[in-house]
Amino acid sequence: MKLTKLLTATAVSALLCVAAIPAWAQDGAPAMTLFTNVHVFDGVNEARIENANVLVEGNLIKTVSTEAIDVGEASVIDGGGRTLMPGLIEGHAHLMLMGPSLPIMESETTWEDFAIHGTKMSEMYLMQGFTTVRDAGGANAGLQRAIDGGMILGPRLYPSGAFLGSRGGHADFANFTAPVGQSTNFSRLNMAQEVDNIADVQKYGRNNFRMGASQLKFMQSGGVVSAFDPWQLLAGSQAEIEAAVQVANEYGSYVMAHSYRKEAILNALNAGVRSIEHGFMFDCEISALMAKKDAYITTNLTAFDPNLFEIPAIANVPASLRKAKSASAAFGNYITNMKECPAKRAFQTDCVGDVASCSKQIAYEKFLNADFFDPHTALVTMTSVGGELVALSGDFMNPYPEGKLGVIEEGAYADILLVDGNPLEDFSVMGTSDKWFDGPERPESPEGILVIMKDGVIYKNTLN
Ligand SMILES: [Zn+2]
Repeated sequence: MKLTKLLTATAVSALLCVAAIPAWAQDGAPAMTLFTNVHVFDGVNEARIENANVLVEGNLIKTVSTEAIDVGEASVIDGGGRTLMPGLIEGHAHLMLMGPSLPIMESETTWEDFAIHGTKMSEMYLMQGFTTVRDAGGANAGLQRAIDGGMILGPRLYPSGAFLGSRGGHADFANFTAPVGQSTNFSRLNMAQEVDNIADVQKYGRNNFRMGASQLKFMQSGGVVSAFDPWQLLAGSQAEIEAAVQVANEYGSYVMAHSYRKEAILNALNAGVRSIEHGFMFDCEISALMAKKDAYITTNLTAFDPNLFEIPAIANVPASLRKAKSASAAFGNYITNMKECPAKRAFQTDCVGDVASCSKQIAYEKFLNADFFDPHTALVTMTSVGGELVALSGDFMNPYPEGKLGVIEEGAYADILLVDGNPLEDFSVMGTSDKWFDGPERPESPEGILVIMKDGVIYKNTLN
């Protein structure tokens, strides 16, 4: 079967409407796609593999070579000297959370609203070049099943199930007047669960895995836009965090912890948490402990945006504005510290909002990663480090255990972008914006990303 012939449509919107072409030909043999004449960014090394060819067999990369690859029946995509690289990996999204505020999601949003929003977010992420997304709370495995079953378009999905958090913490979505113990919209949908002791952590942690989570998300600090918590909160006792790690270990998986304050980060690492979320008070002592514990950090760099105080969710709520100002003062050294004592850092956007604004936030987060650091660091963050991070879900819970993610190498999953130009020199080809919410509407898919392949299947091809 000639994939290229079937994918002559150039408009992405047209592609979104047709079923994706399977990675398997009709006779049962794996479909072959040969990319020729490409420079390969492999997800790790700054030097590209020049003038290479990449053969995809079924859903895996079979060969990467600077020699000609001889295959019989393959669809050939002539890269024309462009850059072939791994699909992007989002380390911390909330595909189901739509805003506009936590109280409205609790009181007025039904499972249908969440599901439809999640469907649109999934499509948007894939077309922005993300072939893998780790969902950091709110999504169970239903969305993943719909994507992997071919019902809707989207990236590979690593869901965390319900956020686990203490009463009054960052995952407490209850109304202001809700008495202790009353169930919430979020708890009924297993999108957030209140855990106030070790038994709760075990019960809801195990339930998350039962519902298809690939890892657990523990809310271990407060937040800025949430109602009841100072951002400095040390939420959850050490024994509760250790209980979450123990439950995750039962499944061969790991815990990601929402941690802001330095003490929270150190507590999490000492309890065995492998993925620090946000980690704004990161410093060299934390970096050293992370190295010892083989841990990762994902940070939404928009938190350091000078216009942070103008975001409506913050500007319109005096308590949040106060919190944002004190947080901003405490987080001032993050970038300097990360440069001085680098840690394994993956990409995260952490958008809660409508699809159009999240698309803008992603473009800005991409921009900041190259601007605060450099294009190579940004690309490694968005590819190979993300691939290592999601693989922490282990042999039993990893939904995609056949190959590596975030790298271009033999045996890795065929999650591939073909990019116009060299993103190591001009990062804007990845679809960046130097403005956040006041920037222009984003295109459905960045012009600079010409081909998007996930699992050996082409979802965008504007080369023809
Ligand atoms: Zn988050």
